[in-house]
Amino acid sequence: MDKLLIGSHVSYKAKNYLIDSVNESLSYGSNCFMIYTGPPQNTLRKEIDKDNVKKAFELMEKNNIDPKNVIVHAPYIINLASPKNDTYNLAKSFLIQELKRVEQLGFKYLVLHPGSRLDLSLEEGIKKIIDGINYVFSKIKNNVIICLETMAGKGSEIGSNFHELKQIIDGVNDKSRIGVCLDTCHIWESGIDISNPEKVLKDFDKIIGLNYLYAIHLNDSKNELGAKKDRHENIGYGKIGFDSIIKWCYYDTIKDIPKILETPYYEDKNNNYAPPYKFEIISIKEKKWYNFK
Ligand code: FE
Ligand code: FE
Ligand code: ZN
Repeated sequence: MDKLLIGSHVSYKAKNYLIDSVNESLSYGSNCFMIYTGPPQNTLRKEIDKDNVKKAFELMEKNNIDPKNVIVHAPYIINLASPKNDTYNLAKSFLIQELKRVEQLGFKYLVLHPGSRLDLSLEEGIKKIIDGINYVFSKIKNNVIICLETMAGKGSEIGSNFHELKQIIDGVNDKSRIGVCLDTCHIWESGIDISNPEKVLKDFDKIIGLNYLYAIHLNDSKNELGAKKDRHENIGYGKIGFDSIIKWCYYDTIKDIPKILETPYYEDKNNNYAPPYKFEIISIKEKKWYNFK
């Protein structure tokens, strides 16, 4: 069997928090997963319960989920490229808290959208992100790695090409705490044809360095190449297509990097919104697409 690290975004919520996240992942057949430490749209967060984390880690160990393959995603409201002072300050203070939480949870990677620059120039936006990350790292010392996500380029998003991410990494003082999360839907919509992972990863290596790649978001896209809209689609239902996605799943160079599905829930026969992940993971494992809708 080819080695495959596959999982999905799962919920993290009352009352069993991480224990339920692990159980949800296992119900999909995952061996890795991603959580938000609270609602992605706001900053309300609950204290992390050590006993809950301990039990969740026992459950992971029993089921061969390695904690180094569990990813945390920072909330969207963190915007380190914002020209507005209050937004920028909130982003920094919240990011500090979030890095603490990831450490308390016992995980290593925090995925972060670099930011939207609004009316700032690209250079100004990138400088704010660099200064923000350096400030945050000076205020909290731990081993959590911030993984800048490759973005679709919607609106004024920074990070929709490898050169912008490289510029940010170049400006970050502590390179051991910075990396990249590659989102297949986002890079496709930013204009990179991903049907040939070898070519894309060669470019990534030349521009950024493959040693900075720590996570992959595995999504199909509702839109054509270069659409810059950021609309995820279920695996095999979108414009990227099943065959290209499968190549990414089994490409040897990235076999040790967790691949996380962030595909949308679908409406099942009883008109309930249901997670697609179990079906998507089966079809990826069998390398054979089938229609679950
Ligand atoms: Fe994201
Ligand atoms: Fe993503
Ligand atoms: Zn997205």
